[in-house]
Amino acid sequence: MANVAFIGLGIMGLPMAVNLVKAGHQVTGYNRSPAKVDKFVADGGKGASTVAEAVKEADVVITMVPDSPDVEAVVTGDDGIFANAKQGAQWIDFSTIRPDVAGQLAKDAAQAGLKPLDAPVSGGEAGAIDGALSIMVGGETADFEAASDVFDAVGKTVVHVGPSGSGQTVKAANQLIVAANIEALSEAVVFLEAYGVDTEAALKVLGGGLAGSKVLDQKGQKMLDRSFDPGFRLQLHHKDLNIVTSAAREAGVTIPLGAVVAQLVGSMVNQGEGSLDHSGLFKLVEQLSGRDENSPDKD
Ligand code: NAP
Repeated sequence: MANVAFIGLGIMGLPMAVNLVKAGHQVTGYNRSPAKVDKFVADGGKGASTVAEAVKEADVVITMVPDSPDVEAVVTGDDGIFANAKQGAQWIDFSTIRPDVAGQLAKDAAQAGLKPLDAPVSGGEAGAIDGALSIMVGGETADFEAASDVFDAVGKTVVHVGPSGSGQTVKAANQLIVAANIEALSEAVVFLEAYGVDTEAALKVLGGGLAGSKVLDQKGQKMLDRSFDPGFRLQLHHKDLNIVTSAAREAGVTIPLGAVVAQLVGSMVNQGEGSLDHSGLFKLVEQLSGRDENSPDKD
């Protein structure tokens, strides 16, 4: 069993770190706000008060922080991972960041004597708690195979998709598909409600046909209940849609649906709704039809 350092104990990181403890690994956690380290210690992990302290004995160093600049902040500098981890240690970045940044950081990591894998995940908080995430991994094949015990503790569908950075490219595609699904589901629910259809019954039958999806299973009820506690915050999906729209433009690929959904998600964030679950995009779809709670014509 490995000695693991886990940096970033948020909505996803904390349950993933706990699953590594349950699988028998020795895990030391660090988080920017210390209260989350205390939670991890209460769940059976070890706590550290700096990145350097967390990583110094680790065979495997994991990062799970929000965005590209956050990953750069924890890996670089005198107190960072590259300067303090053991030579030969594996660095697995589970965060969702820009593919070009992941590719560059992998080169820097290798130069610092580490073995890098970009390994963004899908499956949400529920997948993290259940140890059932989909994990798309970029990096060297040998490094991927060496990390199998760690991946098995947190994921169910774990696939090596190519060299460094390609895990992030696949994740960008994932985020495009999920956002378009959420938008379509929101439009369908607003449409059904306008006709006074029994929406519980409608979603049940839609879920059994070609319209069925994990988005419908996990987000449909949240829309019916107007219950948008995160989960995956709109702010983070906004980040990911920026990643996919700019990466598509750089590749000369046109993604019109992605561009529209990116604008709609951006609008929610600009209106101060970024901390809602991404299913909260439903609120904007209601508003576009004058069917939100503030609309004078709301029946
Ligand atoms: P989150 O709840 O905001 O957690 C991020 C954690 O990283 C926070 O606890 C934060 O600490 C910590 N952090 C940020 N900067 C740090 C730094 N410089 N040093 C140490 N810790 C730092 O976000 P999340 O939902 O877990 O998402 C994490 C990543 O997974 C993101 O890239 C996201 O896109 C991806 N993801 C999320 C989901 C989901 O459903 N939530 C699903 C798939 C992928 P503070 O407490 O100080 O803020």
